[in-house]
Amino acid sequence: MRVISPTPSALHVLEHVFGYSAFRGEQQAIVEHVAAGGDALVLMPTGGGKSLCYQVPALLRSGTAIVVSPLIALMHDQVSALVEAGVKAAFLNSSLDAESARAVERALYGGELDLLYVAPERLMTPRFLDQLDHLRDTGRLALFAIDEAHCVSQWGHDFRPEYLQLSILPERYPAIPRIALTATADRLTREEIAGRLNLQDARRFIASFDRPNIRYTIVEKDDPRRQLLHFIREEYPSEAGIVYCLSRRKVEETAAWLQEQGLNALPYHAGLAQDVRAAHQTRFLREDGLIMVATIAFGMGIDKPDVRFVAHLDLPRSIEGYYQETGRAGRDGLPAQAWMAWGAQDVVQQRRMIDESEASEEFKRLARNRLDVLVGLVEATTCRRQHLLAYFGEEAPPCGNCDNCLHPPQTWDATEAARKALSCVYRTGQRYGAGHLIDVLRGETTDKVLERGHERISTFGIGSELDEKRWRTVFRQLVARELVAVDHERYNALRLTDAARPLLRGEAGFHLRLERERSRGRAKRRSA
Ligand code: ADP
Ligand code: ZN
Repeated sequence: MRVISPTPSALHVLEHVFGYSAFRGEQQAIVEHVAAGGDALVLMPTGGGKSLCYQVPALLRSGTAIVVSPLIALMHDQVSALVEAGVKAAFLNSSLDAESARAVERALYGGELDLLYVAPERLMTPRFLDQLDHLRDTGRLALFAIDEAHCVSQWGHDFRPEYLQLSILPERYPAIPRIALTATADRLTREEIAGRLNLQDARRFIASFDRPNIRYTIVEKDDPRRQLLHFIREEYPSEAGIVYCLSRRKVEETAAWLQEQGLNALPYHAGLAQDVRAAHQTRFLREDGLIMVATIAFGMGIDKPDVRFVAHLDLPRSIEGYYQETGRAGRDGLPAQAWMAWGAQDVVQQRRMIDESEASEEFKRLARNRLDVLVGLVEATTCRRQHLLAYFGEEAPPCGNCDNCLHPPQTWDATEAARKALSCVYRTGQRYGAGHLIDVLRGETTDKVLERGHERISTFGIGSELDEKRWRTVFRQLVARELVAVDHERYNALRLTDAARPLLRGEAGFHLRLERERSRGRAKRRSA
C-alpha cells in the first residue's frame, strides 16, 4: 500500500500501517536514515524490532524494497503479517511452485509490490537480476535489506556462500540504499560484514544487547540431569522452557527421562520426521508449560514470549550461540532465567572435536578461541552479564541479577600465577600462544622450547607448581579479562594489553573460581 499524504512521515506509517504508537530505541533514527537514501548496518538483539527498520522505509520510498533473507519459514510469516496489514508484500523462494513464482515475478515487474522477500540464491540468478535492472531503470527500486547479515561471515556457524555474492549489489545498484541487519556479531564479525558487503561507510546503529530480565546462572556439573530436574521443579514447575543438548541422542534421552519424572517434555531435532517436528513446535507455541528438549535446530524464528527458562546441558559452541539461545527466554520482559550446567570434560570434548575436524588450521584456531572465550564466561568469578556484554563491546556495571552477583563464588588467589604468566608472555617476545608459554612456565624442554632458547630465559620453570590445566585456566581468564590480547593472524599469539599494567606493578590482584575438586579437597582437609 502506498501512503497517500504528500510527505508521509515515518510515524504516520508506523501508526497507520503497523498499528504501533511509538518507535523503539533506535528504530526511528534508522528508518529516517534509510528512507533518506543512506546505507546502514544495524546490530540489534533478537526481538529488538529489526523488521520495522526496513519495512517502514520500504513504504516511505517509492518502488519495491528487496529483502534478502535465508530463512524460508520466517519469510512466510513476515509476508503473511504484512499482507494482513494491507502491505503489498510477497516472497520468492524454493517453497513456491513455478506458477506462483511467475505470478510474483509479474507483480514485481509491474511495480505492484512494496516489499519482496527473496532467498539469496534466487536473487543472484541472471533472470532475477535482469528484473532488478528493469526496476532500477524505471526508478522503482526502493532499497535492499540484507537480513541475518552475519551469514556473510565465513567463520560463523550460519555461513551462506551465496551471501558473499551480495557484494555485487553496490556495484550494480550504487544509488540504491542498503541496510544490513543482524542480531549476532562480535566486533570482528561486524568488521567482516562491513567489509564483505561493502558497507564500510554505512552508518552503524548498535543497540544494547542487555536483557535485564534474564538471570544468568551457570553451575558446575554434578549429575546434570538431577540438577536440571531440581532447577525446574524448584523454580519453574509448570512453565514453558527450552532445554538445549548437543546431540540428537541426548535430546531423546533427556526428553524421555523428564517425562518419566512427570514433566511435560517433548524432543525436537533435525532427525525427527518433518510432521513430528512441526507438531511438537505447534504444541510448544500453543500449550502452556511445555518443555522442549532440543538441539540448536530449534529456536530460529520461534517467537514465544513467555518462555521462562532456557537450560543448557552442554556447552554452546560460542558466546554468540549462548546469547542467541538464552535470548529466547523472557521475550515478554518478565523475569526469566538462563541456566547452564557445564564441566571441564565438555571443554575437553569440544576441543577434541575441533582438533579432529577436517577444517582448515585457520578455522580451527578461530574455533578454539571462540571456545576459550566461552569458557572464560563459565569460569568467571564476577558478573556474568558484564562478561557477556563486554563481548558485544558494551560496558555495564555489575547487574545484581546473576549467580555471581547474587552469590559471589569462592575463589583462589592467582595473582602470583598471573604475574608469572604475563612476564612469560613478555620475556618470549609476545609472539607465542598459551600452549608454548605453559611449556616454558612449567619448565618443559620441548623441541620448540630448545629451538627458541627459551630454556635460558628467566621465566623458564618458574611455574612448575601448577599443572597444565590450571595454567590453561589462568591464560583463559587473562584473555577473558583482556589483560592479554590474542592475535589470530599470528597463530593465536598472546600480547600484553594496557590493562595488564596494574597487575604487573603489584597494584591489582587476580582471583580465579575455586573449582569443585579443589573445594572438595579443602572441605576434606578442613573436616579432617
Ligand atoms: P527482530 O527481527 O529484531 O528479532 P522483530 O522485528 O521480529 O524483531 O520484532 C519483534 C517484535 O517486536 C515483533 O512482535 C514486533 O511486532 C514488535 N515490535 C517491533 N517494533 C515495535 C514498536 N515500535 N512498537 C511495538 N512493537 C514493536
Ligand atoms: Zn551480575
